[in-house]
Amino acid sequence: MSRIFIICGMIAVAAACSRGERPTHTTAEGTATAAKATLIRLYSVAKKGYVMSEVVVRSDAQWKEQLTPEQYHVTREKGTEAPFTGENWNNHQRGVYVCVCCGNDLFSWEQKYESGTGWPSFWQPVAPENVSTREDNSFFSRRTEVICSRCGAHLGHVFPDGPKPTGLRYCMNSAALRFVGE
Ligand code: FE
Repeated sequence: MSRIFIICGMIAVAAACSRGERPTHTTAEGTATAAKATLIRLYSVAKKGYVMSEVVVRSDAQWKEQLTPEQYHVTREKGTEAPFTGENWNNHQRGVYVCVCCGNDLFSWEQKYESGTGWPSFWQPVAPENVSTREDNSFFSRRTEVICSRCGAHLGHVFPDGPKPTGLRYCMNSAALRFVGE
């Protein structure tokens, strides 16, 4: 009889050990928690200061589900919309232009100007950290591509022929921006 108790006890202990050894992130919820989020420092217009934000990484399938075909083509395939066709080139309202993919604050109405190109143009982003640049040598030209620092969305290009005080022209695609009025 006592031998049966001992065997049962060993089984119970083995089961407990087995449970104890199980990693805490085996559930779907736990895995999400355990995966360390990459944080970057971005400027928030609403908070009037810098905040730590999670970078946004999604699959092509997820982006296609979230975006319209034109938004997807511009932001994820480096497309360019036709000039004078987008929603934002002729918008003169007060507000902030955020990334259509991830909502990152990109440009303010205060730095928008009439470039005459048919694309929304700005002489400065809301903060240098919120956009990133990289060389783009496609189409036999040397241009500087502008991307969202949070999700890597292609936004447009920046050229050295803008107005004062920066002398820069951030030539953006309307399809990459979502306007949030004040
Ligand atoms: Fe983004």
